[in-house]
Amino acid sequence: MNYQSAEFIISAAKLKDCPADSVCEVAFAGRSNAGKSSAINTLTRQGQLARTSKTPGRTQLINFFQIAEQQYLVDLPGYGYAKVPMKMKNNWQIHLEQYLNVREPLAGLVLVTDIRHVFKEFDQMMIEWARANELPLHILLTKSDKLKRGGINDALSKARRQVEGMDASVQAFSSLKRQGVDVLANKLDSWFVA
Ligand code: GDP
Repeated sequence: MNYQSAEFIISAAKLKDCPADSVCEVAFAGRSNAGKSSAINTLTRQGQLARTSKTPGRTQLINFFQIAEQQYLVDLPGYGYAKVPMKMKNNWQIHLEQYLNVREPLAGLVLVTDIRHVFKEFDQMMIEWARANELPLHILLTKSDKLKRGGINDALSKARRQVEGMDASVQAFSSLKRQGVDVLANKLDSWFVA
């Protein structure tokens, strides 16, 4: 798949705004600041692509990037955005839950986590949801440039233990150093083809 051809299509506020022609999509989820936008920008080699998701007013929306005909990358709202009032947090949760529970074309979930914080509450929740729904999961431990080899291996082992028995994979990733991009692309390819 040519991820460099990714093109922003829509910020969906509601389930009915999600592209109707999608037959296969892969969603990226993560806590705010985990490095999700940077990972998407690195994968697509488009420095500004996921900036859409950071535009004020759009942080709560589900952003769709078209990769090929009827195939999409989906940037889910970052969890734990501190400046959001409580009512919006509820909305956010409803949207995310609706998307995850109802969206038929969803083929896999990429959970983006800071390699230094494996795992926080939101991540645990997403892992359990993927387990319960038997959705393939790929965990991206980002900012791996912040740790030495030993620390990276410890984080990988810890993450792998938590997803034991699941259809899940784990990798280290650095947007800063562009490390792990091929591994991520290969994983996504396997989902898009399937
Ligand atoms: P998001 O909120 O999950 O979309 O996170 P961002 O992609 O905006 O990244 C949050 C912060 O982490 C920014 O200051 C980034 O520059 C930094 N960051 C993201 N990825 C990396 C990485 O691979 N290495 C390092 N050192 N910093 C990163």
